[in-house]
Amino acid sequence: MGISVAIVGSGPSGFYTADALVKSDVDCEVDIIERLPAPHGLIRYGVAPDHQTTKNVSRAFDKTGGDGAVRYWGNVEVGRDISLDRLRELYDAVVLAVGSPFDRKLGIPGEDKLGVFGSAEFVGWYNAHPDFRDLNPNLDITGAAVIGVGNVAIDIARVLVKTREEMATSDIPDYALDPIQAAPITDVYMFGRRGALDAKFTNVELREMGHLTNCHPVVDPAQLPDSVDDMENSRDKRLKERNLASLREFTTLDPAGKNKRCHFAFLASPLEILGGERVEGLLMERNEVVDGRAVGTGETFEIECGMVAAAIGYQGEPIEGAPFDEWSGTVVNEDGRVADGLYAVGWIKRGPTGVIGTNKVDGRDAAKQIVADITDGGKPGRAGLESELRAGSTRWIDYGQWQRIKAVEEESAPAPSPRRKLATVDEMLAVLG
Ligand SMILES: Cc1cc2nc3c(=O)[nH]c(=O)nc-3n(C[C@H](O)[C@H](O)[C@H](O)COP(=O)(O)OP(=O)(O)OC[C@H]3O[C@@H](n4cnc5c(N)ncnc54)[C@H](O)[C@@H]3O)c2cc1C
Repeated sequence: MGISVAIVGSGPSGFYTADALVKSDVDCEVDIIERLPAPHGLIRYGVAPDHQTTKNVSRAFDKTGGDGAVRYWGNVEVGRDISLDRLRELYDAVVLAVGSPFDRKLGIPGEDKLGVFGSAEFVGWYNAHPDFRDLNPNLDITGAAVIGVGNVAIDIARVLVKTREEMATSDIPDYALDPIQAAPITDVYMFGRRGALDAKFTNVELREMGHLTNCHPVVDPAQLPDSVDDMENSRDKRLKERNLASLREFTTLDPAGKNKRCHFAFLASPLEILGGERVEGLLMERNEVVDGRAVGTGETFEIECGMVAAAIGYQGEPIEGAPFDEWSGTVVNEDGRVADGLYAVGWIKRGPTGVIGTNKVDGRDAAKQIVADITDGGKPGRAGLESELRAGSTRWIDYGQWQRIKAVEEESAPAPSPRRKLATVDEMLAVLG
């Protein structure tokens, strides 16, 4: 008899797990349960709207979603529509693939002011995530600060300064594009607490900042070291060398004709968000690096800004029925095993690091563990879930219905944009009648 597996979450880690399970030698019935109607997690709602090549990864998931052994249950939230405990009673194995949806806090005074956002909400807003559709940030501002120097920080900075023409091939919704384009923003500041070589952005993303139509990248040459010290990992060293070369190139670029600036500021930490009810500025402290750690020097400075986006990392949310480690923000697991018949993959397993492809390894490992651990299937699986959801009058959508929503989004997009995203659950469900 085959085994039944429920995967909670339809981001990359969930889909890679499903794919590995159906490709295994064991007969598996795989159900992917997703709280939103739309699948693919951060590929749809995190990856920047102007980076469509990256978003195209989800095409491979359409193949998995259309596989007869896999069924998609969109608009079903574990914890709301069905409990994790009940799911474990119904399925031989349950895989948690719920990601890390919450922002780490800065933990400084002023963080509660209007105009301070975590990257999850700000990125979610410009990516049409239903939870953040109504964020309505006030962008009638001239300065914006982004705390963090990773790829998410650079995404936010870039989306704020690109021209409408540069965003034409993106799928940013009009409700976000219009106020961004109308915003009188002239200066975006990105702050990293350590030195330029500790910045986490990848070189492609960094280089792009030197080729924007209306934005000049500003780097203080005094913050750039002459060279990269020898490192154990030669690949890491090469990456740092490439970033250093790009930052150095920025210092030679001509700002003429560009109305906006993106400042790459290193060795500085925020001390306080200034202003009244709304953000008006940031009090920063200069740092020095001592034994690899950023240490405040006591020297401070202020910048004016009407918005602060904290892009300093994500954390997971506890799920009732699964042990949770508050410090790491992940489900407690040993190589992905959480308890008998319960597994974790992706960001909720490892924390918010790595690229989309990193989740493929998790999916493959989880599938191997499941087929090794579960020797006698026999729980009700899919049929049990269906009767449970019917009893609770939950309206779920299957993958074919998702494809219909997707088709409407694609058909209504003004060329060359690939899709006009529906940004609320009601709008998506309305497509289905
Ligand atoms: C802003 C941003 C930009 C990024 N850009 C890139 C990039 O350009 N290139 C790249 O390689 N990587 C990028 N990444 C990283 C990449 O997105 C992650 O590695 C990947 O999405 C993690 O996959 P996941 O499946 O663990 O989580 P997620 O993608 O977050 O998927 C989790 C899914 O679980 C669902 N879920 C949560 N709770 C429940 C519940 N209770 N019941 C049912 N469903 C639930 C969520 O709705 C979501 O769909 C980016 C990340 C972020 C945050």
